[in-house]
Amino acid sequence: MTAHDFDLITLGAGSGGVRASRLAAQAGRRVAVVEESRVGGTCVMRGCVPKKLLVYGAHFAEDLTDSFGYGWSIEGLDFDWARLVAAKNAELNRLEGVYNRILRDNGVTVIEGRGRLADAHTVMVAGEAYTADTILIATGGRPSLPDVPGIEHVVTSNEALDLMQLPERMVIVGGGYIAVEFAGIFNALGVKVIQVLRGDTVLRGFDQDVRAALAEEMVKKGVDLRCETVVRSIERAGRSYSVRLSGDETIETDLILYATGRSPNSAGLGLESAGVAVDANGAIVVDEYSRTSVEHIWAVGDVTDRVNLTPVAIGEAMAFVKTALQGLPTAMAYDNIPSAVFSQPPIGTVGLTEAEARQRHGCIDVYLSRFKPMRNILAGRDERTMMKLIVERSSDRVLGVHMVGPDSPEILQGFAVALKCGATKAQFDATVGIHPSAAEELVTMRDKRS
Ligand code: FAD
Ligand code: NDP
Repeated sequence: MTAHDFDLITLGAGSGGVRASRLAAQAGRRVAVVEESRVGGTCVMRGCVPKKLLVYGAHFAEDLTDSFGYGWSIEGLDFDWARLVAAKNAELNRLEGVYNRILRDNGVTVIEGRGRLADAHTVMVAGEAYTADTILIATGGRPSLPDVPGIEHVVTSNEALDLMQLPERMVIVGGGYIAVEFAGIFNALGVKVIQVLRGDTVLRGFDQDVRAALAEEMVKKGVDLRCETVVRSIERAGRSYSVRLSGDETIETDLILYATGRSPNSAGLGLESAGVAVDANGAIVVDEYSRTSVEHIWAVGDVTDRVNLTPVAIGEAMAFVKTALQGLPTAMAYDNIPSAVFSQPPIGTVGLTEAEARQRHGCIDVYLSRFKPMRNILAGRDERTMMKLIVERSSDRVLGVHMVGPDSPEILQGFAVALKCGATKAQFDATVGIHPSAAEELVTMRDKRS
């Protein structure tokens, strides 16, 4: 036994913090977790979960329209945004209770309030000092806003999830994950969405064909994409706003959502008192095991700004527990992390983009398929699915699988297992398809793109 109050204190009860605290407690450690807002963190309270519920809610607009082609006639269709938001919030309350229960049932002490390091073993919360042998920082990130005149008038994803009412018109700034997901939600719900992005198209860093396919479908669905455009200034104009764009166009809108990236939550944590190093963007610097510059202080998740996804924060947390508390040095593996963008249509992707594969592996073969999924035929919907395989020529190994189309996040999870196992194109070809499905296309692609 040491003289410290706890074996482990975790700062932040989000995806990484909850998992690490629970596992450490299950391993017999005395654990406390400090949370300044709601247990569950960004993913559960302000991110993945509420976003996905709104994506489901918004998608009914298309589903209901498409049902006509299948013989349905639905009279008196109506949509109640307030009811959707209330249902979503009730689910978040339920989940908050579940997470609190998980922690308490496993013997984790939950300390409410903002935590700050007073020294390398002491955490201060609301004037109380708590000490621990090991400290884990899992404080996540927050929206980052550029310095634009009038930026005080905008909202971020936090507020957009809880709007009192739907605006008629909306400007969304950014071209990343959040911007395209929220453009999909609000556009489907009938809001006139103008998306302003500085890049040549959406989702920089994704495969070029994926980017092009999504942009094309978004435009078809009604999103007004303004690429290579930046916002110069924002002014209030009565009950609406004037947004001045590069090129000197001014647009009037009712709501402006900025989704221009997120910054690590490292300020005001007392990191300097403890000697914990951060990089120029405020991300806590860690080694491959998530150990900071201080021997017994560790950091996982978005606050380290590595791959900012929930399953990665959880993976890092599990590796931390093994390494720091169970004597089994374990590093998170960052290759072949699958991810999804819950845009409309959604994207699923794992492995390398075509450009990355060419750069790293030289000779590659590319298989690409674009088709109208069966469901869209009777529906009369002009939405096409895109699938792409990238294969290393010398080894026949599949380096990347990408899909834009309905259910692609669900479909790609299984293909992520295949890539993790080093599957070859010949093994894809030897796999029997499931018919009729869209997914079978991924095991029946025969023609290389010339
Ligand atoms: P968080 O989950 O952010 O948890 C950090 C916690 O620390 C928070 O609860 C915060 O209140 C608390 N905290 C901060 N400072 C202190 C302090 N000083 N004292 C006490 N507590 C503190 N990822 C996906 O994989 N899939 C998705 O679909 C997805 N959708 C997203 C949608 C949106 C709109 C956003 C914003 C993010 C989304 N993400 C998604 C990313 C995902 O939410 C994060 O990668 C994940 O939550 C990171 O987990 P974390 O443990 O690092 O931090
Ligand atoms: P992203 O990094 O994905 O995108 C940020 C966007 O903002 C980019 O288009 C970027 O342009 C643009 N941008 C950045 N700075 C400026 C600026 N000063 N002026 C104009 N545009 C700017 O961040 P998000 O905020 O969308 O999401 C944050 C992270 O959360 C994601 O990266 C992801 O890790 C996670 N997330 C995951 C989701 C999922 O798994 N489905 C969903 C939502 C979030 P450019 O490309 O030119 O730099």
